[in-house]
Amino acid sequence: MATQICPNCKADSFTWTTDEDENNNLETTWGCSCGYSAKEDESQQGNCDDCKKFSKMKLEDENKIYWWCCSCNKIEIINAV
Ligand SMILES: [Zn+2]
Ligand SMILES: [Zn+2]
Repeated sequence: MATQICPNCKADSFTWTTDEDENNNLETTWGCSCGYSAKEDESQQGNCDDCKKFSKMKLEDENKIYWWCCSCNKIEIINAV
């Protein structure tokens, strides 16, 4: 599995796992060896404004919801919790 640049510590060790919740919906959770983790909203993928690739995804951690592009690592904060 390819690793990505962690939005928190910028190390190349950000990777995802999928789990089923109580309703058997697949949940994708991203995590890094620094201890950072964020949940992905699978219904919200889009094209990145910068690199134009279909690799922008919506992530939610305990402090914020944000767009993150896994190609160019652009971060766009949507909502600070
Ligand atoms: Zn990290
Ligand atoms: Zn991008």
